[in-house]
Amino acid sequence: MPLIVQKFGGTSVADTQMILGAARKAIRAAQAGNQVVVVVSAMGKTTDHLVALARELTERPAGREMDMLLASGEQITIALMAIALESLGYKAVSMTGAQIGIKTDNYHTKARIKSISTDRMKKALDDGNIVIAAGFQGIDDDGDITTLGRGGSDTSAVALAAALGADECEIYTDVDGVYTTDPRLLPEARKVVQVSYDEMLELTSLGAGVMHNRSIEFAKKFGVAVHVRSSFSDTLGTLIIETPESDTAVSGAAITKNEARLTMVGVPDRPGVAMFLFSKIAEAKIPTDMIVQNVGQDNRADISFTVPDTDLVPTLELLQLVVPEIGAETVEWQENVAKVSVVGLEMEQQGGVAKKMFRAISQKGINIDIITTSEIKISALVARDDGLATLRAVHNAFGLDKEPKKIKSRPKQSKVPKLDRSIAETGAIDFSRLSGMEEILIEAISLNQTEAQITMPNVPDAPGIAAEMFEKIALGDVVVDMIVQSCGRNGRASITFTIPRKSLSKTLEIVQKLAKKWKSDGPLHIPAISMLSVRGTGLRSHTDLAYRMFKTLADSGINVNVISTSERNIAVTVDESNGEKGLALLKQEFSGEMM
Ligand code: ADP
Ligand code: ASP
Ligand code: MG
Repeated sequence: MPLIVQKFGGTSVADTQMILGAARKAIRAAQAGNQVVVVVSAMGKTTDHLVALARELTERPAGREMDMLLASGEQITIALMAIALESLGYKAVSMTGAQIGIKTDNYHTKARIKSISTDRMKKALDDGNIVIAAGFQGIDDDGDITTLGRGGSDTSAVALAAALGADECEIYTDVDGVYTTDPRLLPEARKVVQVSYDEMLELTSLGAGVMHNRSIEFAKKFGVAVHVRSSFSDTLGTLIIETPESDTAVSGAAITKNEARLTMVGVPDRPGVAMFLFSKIAEAKIPTDMIVQNVGQDNRADISFTVPDTDLVPTLELLQLVVPEIGAETVEWQENVAKVSVVGLEMEQQGGVAKKMFRAISQKGINIDIITTSEIKISALVARDDGLATLRAVHNAFGLDKEPKKIKSRPKQSKVPKLDRSIAETGAIDFSRLSGMEEILIEAISLNQTEAQITMPNVPDAPGIAAEMFEKIALGDVVVDMIVQSCGRNGRASITFTIPRKSLSKTLEIVQKLAKKWKSDGPLHIPAISMLSVRGTGLRSHTDLAYRMFKTLADSGINVNVISTSERNIAVTVDESNGEKGLALLKQEFSGEMM
């Protein structure tokens, strides 16, 4: 019998009438001949309210007690949903995370799923019940309740779909699909027909809050077709599957307004120092993004990065200890920032995306504080007040409000790729080589020795600088790969990028002119660099991966120059001569996690 998982988010179960509405959707799926598992979130703003209550008592409540508190929200909804179904004449049974058998690690408030045992759920389904599962929660080895992180019910739903071998996972929410950007911020955003796992992983990780980022890791790893659709209508929503909607260079944009920027000032520039910093942060499971380094005077560098607002206090506490240990000068931070990103699988092939994005932003007179890129995304950090205008400018520049010229045909419902049942039929998924369902899976580790690196130190920290530079370079037909712009200090910033070695002299000629104009001391260049990449799924959300990469290299005295991260690839540049050695070291370090 086909099996369907339906998930209803908080706004879709905000009161009993809406719970009845959701129950009717489940009944319709059952009447159509499916076994049905319903995953629910806490009602309306319950979780926010519970968080606020704890904060009335203390700034830093204990994680175990927070989980005990927050899990109560979902417990209310499952019971009411089961009561609603029974009132409509259907057999239903509610289950908490523990009763479903969702085993997690013990990182309270951000636990990861280790295994799911499906026996009890299957029995209840076979007995003719609609199973109502509490989203967002699990249980650790000590029997304590854990939660998966805010928005984590999506991850519960997709993980259950994977474990049960469901035919489809429907995510019912308060929008009717995935849009090119948050339609509540930009009404001109366009609903997309389908979006690929890789794009969605990146978009959710960069701020598209429509789905919990880690749910997409599950979907990709286990091949679950996810259908995001409206709780309030029956129109088709958006499919999240392997293939993208079209082959445009940019397919979506996202904004994060809840990140803070930190800068460690005057860090001694020697191997292992950055590693030590990020090891401390990784141990605390704090996700970092936009890591950039600005080489300053006297062999000292500034290292900047962003963390979620909610992790700012713990990060500052950590840095207070790290600063004297590594002999840095001080820590600066800024909370009123926004990160605007564009994502597209074809970005690397089609080129020109960076200059277009920077120009669109500078035309609004907005200054970019930090730039980071990867092969499928470009992010710009701007003042928070400029966030919305920046998002609109780039959304517009890439024509995201318009249908792409060639839409790939939507797969027929019957052709939606199905989960590999051989994985699902084993009952409890516990991959023998992985310590849990959410562990990292690495696809490839590779070395690229075709690129050169250029740094423009000391350029004006003003609107239009990056745009002008990459426009001039593009006019010379040079394809730029990685770009990082460090955080400006005293009105000056530095920009580093990589290009094919064969384009080096041409590019140097172009930027030398700009260096004169901007009174920069540059350009500096490294004619041959080695780029080492680790490719997999959900790499950024596994906060320790980048750190393990740095540590492996630093332990052998290899210094990392530039870092570029996406959810599917982490790349670093090192000196040319260290390429082969670095590759061998990384292969050894990650041998246990290779697919
Ligand atoms: P739920 O309570 O159902 O989990 P969420 O509030 O977590 O719902 O997610 C739905 C919201 O996500 C929408 O109301 C919308 O404002 C926001 N959102 C952000 N980015 C996007 C996007 N690219 N497409 C659609 N919705 C988005
Ligand atoms: N109720 C939880 C939250 O608000 C989980 C979820 O809604 O996905 O974060
Ligand atoms: Mg949500």
